[in-house]
Amino acid sequence: MRLADKYQHQEISGMTRMFQSVERMIKDGNAPLNLSIGEPDFITEPDIADAACAAAKQGFTHYPPLAGFKDLREAVCAYWARHHNFKADPDEVFITNGGLHAPILLFEALLNPGDEILIFEPYFSPYLSQILYSKAVPVVIKTQESNNFAPTIEDLERAVTPKTRGILLNLPCNPTGKILNLKQLEEIANFAERHDLFVISDEIYESLIFNNKNHICFANLNNMKERTILIGGLSKSHCMTGWRLGYVICDKNLVNTLCVVSVFHTYGVNTLSQKAAAYALNTQDEKVKQRSKIFADRMNKVAARLNSMKGVTCGEAEGAFYLFPSIKATGLTSEEFSWKLLSEAGVAVVPGSAFGESGEGYIRIACTQSLDILLNAMDRMQEFTNKLSGAQPL
Ligand code: PMP
Repeated sequence: MRLADKYQHQEISGMTRMFQSVERMIKDGNAPLNLSIGEPDFITEPDIADAACAAAKQGFTHYPPLAGFKDLREAVCAYWARHHNFKADPDEVFITNGGLHAPILLFEALLNPGDEILIFEPYFSPYLSQILYSKAVPVVIKTQESNNFAPTIEDLERAVTPKTRGILLNLPCNPTGKILNLKQLEEIANFAERHDLFVISDEIYESLIFNNKNHICFANLNNMKERTILIGGLSKSHCMTGWRLGYVICDKNLVNTLCVVSVFHTYGVNTLSQKAAAYALNTQDEKVKQRSKIFADRMNKVAARLNSMKGVTCGEAEGAFYLFPSIKATGLTSEEFSWKLLSEAGVAVVPGSAFGESGEGYIRIACTQSLDILLNAMDRMQEFTNKLSGAQPL
């Protein structure tokens, strides 16, 4: 069958290439220790699944309201008020098919072809594809580990043009696991105000912040609520990736437009997933906290092990479940290191370059396996780096 021109030469992203290799190895009975996937290893709590079953039996089997069920939109608001002191009205919430579907709908509603969006590198790579798919222009702002992967205000000012419409933020960040401090966020907020930009703030990892750091909700900064579109979801906080449940919190007018867009996209989000999510948001705070502690423990232990390896240095765990150690001192590129690690040590990680050029020299490690598996992977990686250092000068 003849494909559309844009799909004639399908480029597979660095992340997908790694995922596909892992799948092939599993099929061949040669499963690696998989630290490549950004999905919690915990299954959804059984009482959340029970809530979906009960809703099905009560007859919640019809099309959902386009913006999402009111009880879920209320639960989203209550969750953000409780956890982050961010106040929103249920009419300012729109439910999406996972967090990932939100930007596509938002770009459709907000952007004209050729409009520019500022995005910080290393970035969550599907976002770059989504901007391009929307016929907008991604303006990539490089960041450096020496500045904790934060953009400088000078770089932002240099990048802005009359066509710039918005900024895409993702904190805690996938892939770096880093957050920005209040001062850095306030600088971005002032910049957004100065240039009249919207800010899409993907805060899907808000529940995973470690080592006495706190999540700062961008919309809570001075004057920011009106120009911020917050993206959240239950995939990470409530281990509900398969339920495909995300949301945006934004201006009511935009919610209305998203409803119009939804008519020709998906006509709402799975009714039973919404019922499960409303239950989850209202009942699982303790579990969310417990899992966050487990992730913190894993991240700190893995970071310490990484720092004991030759040629590897890893910054402090701050958020999400990702570590982004530098492997520059091994002399290998991110791709060389990751593929050699997979074939020689049976450990899968994602090359940092899959998240843009600023990711070159790094690898992304997802601490989404039990501590036993993670430490076993660290043993293998240690042996691998020892061999590397024997083979070439570090
Ligand atoms: N944003 C970021 C930064 C992510 O890492 C992910 C998932 N890896 C998503 C959004 C999408 O999450 P969901 O499963 O809810 O679509």
